[in-house]
Amino acid sequence: MSFISQTFSNSILDKMKKFYIDDMINPPPSGAIFRAKTDNAVITAYKSGKVLFQGKNPDSEAHIWTSFENDTNVNDLSLNQNNDYEQAYLSNSHIGSDESGTGDYFGPITTCAVYIKKEQIDQLKSIGIQDSKLITDQNIEKLSKQLINMNIPYSLMILHNEKYNILQKQGWSQGKMKAMLHHSTIKKLQEKLGFQTEAIVIDQFCMPNIYKKHLASEGESLLPHTHFLTKAEHHSIAVAAASVIARASFIKEMNRLSKESGYKLLKGASHKVDQLVAQIIEDKGEPYLNKIAKVHFANTNKAKHL
Ligand code: MN
Repeated sequence: MSFISQTFSNSILDKMKKFYIDDMINPPPSGAIFRAKTDNAVITAYKSGKVLFQGKNPDSEAHIWTSFENDTNVNDLSLNQNNDYEQAYLSNSHIGSDESGTGDYFGPITTCAVYIKKEQIDQLKSIGIQDSKLITDQNIEKLSKQLINMNIPYSLMILHNEKYNILQKQGWSQGKMKAMLHHSTIKKLQEKLGFQTEAIVIDQFCMPNIYKKHLASEGESLLPHTHFLTKAEHHSIAVAAASVIARASFIKEMNRLSKESGYKLLKGASHKVDQLVAQIIEDKGEPYLNKIAKVHFANTNKAKHL
């Protein structure tokens, strides 16, 4: 167990808060703005701007942010040359996959797999391809179009709300849905490519043995040369590109559902979402939610009590 303590500016703290949104430990200890836990470290940010990284591998976690502070181009998330992520496959041609919408009450889950050739890596970095969580919604759309116009091979799958809700009622966990989506999207891309790719990188959302168990439960097995990486968007340009296309697709779907339903559907799963859900139930009745929401989220029950 080792630790690193460092002070960061408010803008970096804001980025961190967004970045670790899925890893938060709530409530944070007193005096802290947030505490998050990743596979590498526990990250605690204090009001003073001080951030403590403690655990197995605090350096690789802290490095993501020190590279921001030391760089005039604050959007550049460069790789730590000394950490475990310096794997040969990451700087060679590979497939990366990522998903969007899993934490949002409204809207589908979108999954994308992208194949990036070795010689395209620098170009993609130079146009600003990085973790979609660090890009604004307006820029996401622009970057996604740019990627698609470059004829980069990709496949995209959308799990719409009706189907999501059916699977959920049949006993599928969201983890199983994600595993099957990643697997199917990657398989689809490999079929499109017509050859076996050198490496596949999946942004890790569960332990690899759980992922394999989900696949096995549907008669599938892990594709050869698959690697699981946490925060893979920061280490694999293919995963970063996949995160951009998946996010752009999610935003597009949210806009479509907003138009169709007549409500400006909100992202996330906050109290504001509860209030909107209550309104929709009042206007259209609860069954309508099946078409636009992940109805098993706590927001449905909370809305009914408003
Ligand atoms: Mn991801």
